[in-house]
Amino acid sequence: MTTISAPEEQRLLDEVPKQLYVDGRWRDGAKGTLAVEDPSTGEPLCEVADASEADAKAALDAAAAAGPEWFQHPPRERGEILRRAFEAIVARSDDLALLMTLEMGKPLKESKAEIAYGAEFLRWFSEQAVRIEGRYGVAPNGQGRLLTMKQPVGPCLLITPWNFPLAMGTRKVGPAIAAGCTMVVKPAQQTPLSMLMLVKILEEAGLPGGVLNLITASSSSETMGPLIADPRLRKLSFTGSTEVGRKLMEQASQNLLRLSMELGGNAPFIVFDDADIDDAVQGALIAKMRNIGEACTAANRFHVAAPVAEQFAEKLAEQMGAMKVGRGTEDDVEVGPLIDDTQRGKVAELVEDAVHKGAHALVGGHARDGAGYFYDPTVLTDVPEDASLLKEEIFGPVAPVRGFSDEDEAVAAANDTEYGLVAYLYTRDVKRALRVAERLETGMVGLNQGLVSNPAAPFGGIKQSGFGREGGAEGIEEYLETKYVAVNL
Ligand code: NAP
Repeated sequence: MTTISAPEEQRLLDEVPKQLYVDGRWRDGAKGTLAVEDPSTGEPLCEVADASEADAKAALDAAAAAGPEWFQHPPRERGEILRRAFEAIVARSDDLALLMTLEMGKPLKESKAEIAYGAEFLRWFSEQAVRIEGRYGVAPNGQGRLLTMKQPVGPCLLITPWNFPLAMGTRKVGPAIAAGCTMVVKPAQQTPLSMLMLVKILEEAGLPGGVLNLITASSSSETMGPLIADPRLRKLSFTGSTEVGRKLMEQASQNLLRLSMELGGNAPFIVFDDADIDDAVQGALIAKMRNIGEACTAANRFHVAAPVAEQFAEKLAEQMGAMKVGRGTEDDVEVGPLIDDTQRGKVAELVEDAVHKGAHALVGGHARDGAGYFYDPTVLTDVPEDASLLKEEIFGPVAPVRGFSDEDEAVAAANDTEYGLVAYLYTRDVKRALRVAERLETGMVGLNQGLVSNPAAPFGGIKQSGFGREGGAEGIEEYLETKYVAVNL
């Protein structure tokens, strides 16, 4: 049953501002416009401004000019702007969810979950804005005093991916505003609409012009490269692929920018034989199928104790095979399209490689014919060690299951990746849970749960998944510098 009508979709699309936002004003892009597509049909939804290098520079000019006043702006007021924006997002969550589903493809229920999650970062950091504190200490020799203060880093560049079009933005924008930083934001060109609406909401919530400037562009290297090299920029926070993250880090080294890098993942999902298998299957469904598998936190590999591996794989296949695939605006759909044909092609290639090397598909294993970029939920067993999908980020609804014989083998297999974002672990043995959690080489562990994301917790990775933390008490530190004043009494 289709719950959303075409006129309703059009009304919403008409409402989205489609220009650049620079110095508190909406303006056209010097390069014309770029198209935003609906991945469930492959049809264009609308056009948004396409910025030039000069537009991007104007955005940084505005951020740099607004810096000194915003730095001094009362923290309570900075927090209250965030709080009003949080409330506006919650009040408009149905519309914002529909917009997200249109541009990104995920089912409406998941878009609503992301809106709630994304809004929470604004609430969390509205509360953190008034808790930025320093220290006052007596020097060890008793003579002087050591005063430590926290100050905003300065103008920031915030670059976000397409898979969580709102939350990846609020996770950066929230702490930057709370800390007193000004910023240039660049969303992914495939999903700029949610961010455009966020900017409109922040503007209506009273954010002064120049504090946040938004650039949408068909060429990210042409627009972002010069900003990264500009000495007025003080920080780059990037969420996206490890490949692009490495390039940006290299560019940023010339300017010695402060960096936060939230990059790719290859999460292991470990199930021990003492786990509640039905619980583990439910957790696996969330860890794998949230966002159609297009999440940096997506379970990429299932390592299951040999005595329960077959049972686990069959139960998972039964549930994944029963999920309804379709356009995310239909109310019983659980699996939307992948973002584009390239992404779907990559998923298909990884599955073909595994099957060619001996894996067996319990369910799925195929792209869908027809419009849109759909791929069937897939569970693979007998996956050989050299299958590429064990090493690469799948970013699609594919679950490879492998057995293990003991704890050491499970931990070694889980850590056998260049990535280190998150791992999931199912066991009822408390000692084993903590022992294994300590040995996992990741920034986060889901213990008997398939979802770790929480605005009140420090989200982030190690190894090739990057560094820096978003959310929690740590999140605002990414936007603060520590200054020490040596006091002679
Ligand atoms: P991507 O290709 O790396 O792009 C991310 C962002 O960087 C987009 O806005 C993109 O703009 C921009 N970009 C690309 N090349 C650039 C360049 N040379 N200079 C400046 N900006 C550039 O990643 P994606 O495909 O959008 O997102 C998927 C990836 O993000 C996955 O690897 C996923 O694991 C990762 N991710 C990580 C986290 C985390 O917290 N660790 C969260 C979500 C996603 P265009 O749109 O113009 O290409």
